[in-house]
Amino acid sequence: MTPFHLGLIRSRSLQAERITPLLLAGLVALVCGALGTRFAPPEGFAPHVQALAVLQTSSEAVARAVGASVGPGTFGARAPSDLTVLGAVETPSEAVTRQIELDDGQGLQDALVDADVDSGDVRAVLAALRHVHDPRRLKTGQEITLVVRQTGDVERLESLTFQAEPTREVIVRRGADTSFVAETKATPIERHRIAAQAEISGSLYESGRKAGVPRSVLAALWRAYAHAIDFQRDVHAGDRFAVLYDQPTARDGSPVGQAVILYAALTVGGKEFPLYRVVFPDGSADYFDAKGQSVKRSLLRTPVDSAHVTSPFGMRIHPLLGFSKMHTGVDFGAPLGTPIFAAGAGVVEEASWAGGYGRCVRIRHNDRLQTVYGHMNRFSRGLHVGQRVNQGEVIGFVGSTGRSTGPHLHFEVRVAGRPANPLSVNMPTGRTLGKAMMAQFLQGQDRLHQEFSRLLAKAPPPKPESGRLATTAHEPTPPGV
Ligand SMILES: [Zn+2]
Repeated sequence: MTPFHLGLIRSRSLQAERITPLLLAGLVALVCGALGTRFAPPEGFAPHVQALAVLQTSSEAVARAVGASVGPGTFGARAPSDLTVLGAVETPSEAVTRQIELDDGQGLQDALVDADVDSGDVRAVLAALRHVHDPRRLKTGQEITLVVRQTGDVERLESLTFQAEPTREVIVRRGADTSFVAETKATPIERHRIAAQAEISGSLYESGRKAGVPRSVLAALWRAYAHAIDFQRDVHAGDRFAVLYDQPTARDGSPVGQAVILYAALTVGGKEFPLYRVVFPDGSADYFDAKGQSVKRSLLRTPVDSAHVTSPFGMRIHPLLGFSKMHTGVDFGAPLGTPIFAAGAGVVEEASWAGGYGRCVRIRHNDRLQTVYGHMNRFSRGLHVGQRVNQGEVIGFVGSTGRSTGPHLHFEVRVAGRPANPLSVNMPTGRTLGKAMMAQFLQGQDRLHQEFSRLLAKAPPPKPESGRLATTAHEPTPPGV
């Protein structure tokens, strides 16, 4: 490359104000010449043109310069003398940054050619790039930053940079003269604390997405509540959720990796179910309800107080029928009227007379797990189908209704519809908070509520109609406890 290297003029790569009328006229002349029309510059032009270093170049180079507007096939017939390109001599150079974007279906090569990068440089850039990133992976709309050294009207590509992935940047720099060197650089990740809340219409997923909550957060929310809430069946229009989470974010603002939910509150059927993340000294974390009970706690194995097993799960000779029969639950002998507790949080699916089961309650805890309580003397006041109950809530009282020989609770656990032994069914067991952690936990709750409200109050007017999203740079409050 010499100082006389020709600057090829393209409207796309030059800002309008930098195209002097003179150059414009030259370009018009080129295009008109190329199209075969006669172009006579106004009287005043000729002396100026001559005053500049007017260079002749090959028809090939000019074809490249204007090829996109008139098509390369138009040129062959013109004599080289008609094709003038303006250059500049020994002008101070400056680096100019230019942003280009891949058009629909456009490859990097075409985009660079469009941006007037020298064809040799384009080849060298692509060759270097292939060592670190497949150029075919670049998609429409990909932004690419070019640094171009301008010496007068002569341009020379110095470097090319683009964000290959949210956390990875690719830089291709000019090395020795005509060669280029490519490298990748990790870009920093920030953590943002974000508050969002929305009314649920349709699914939690749909409503959450409308409120701008990332998929990963909604998935985490679903997992956190899945022990007790069946989102498909329990959650209805008008229910609400609130969530406070930490989201790792790339430089361009896009979420990266797994968000961590610090606090969430799901309001289902008018009842709020908050949960809080607690980090244990060993680094593991779990979710706890407002009272500090693990949300992953297992079903109560004995849903009646002061009861003893009178008949285990499994094959037995039925005391009334007199023949061998599968006992699909566990019988707990207890005095008439002893309170019966819901073994886990869930929704009442049945609260009625059910043949041999007598007065019977069935609770669904999640999409796989149900519990059944038979032979009840009576249900607790107001208990009805569709009611949401918490673990340990009284649902009725021990009786001897149905096929029963005396007051006892027949307690059944069904996993995917099949009876399982309540005493051995392997439910995920949650951890418990010690005294010190409990105190910290209760304090932490207030702080999270405050932070949630503060973030939400700062939120710009909700863009999606059904929710609000607020964010701040991460502050070093410990998550959960
Ligand atoms: Zn039984």
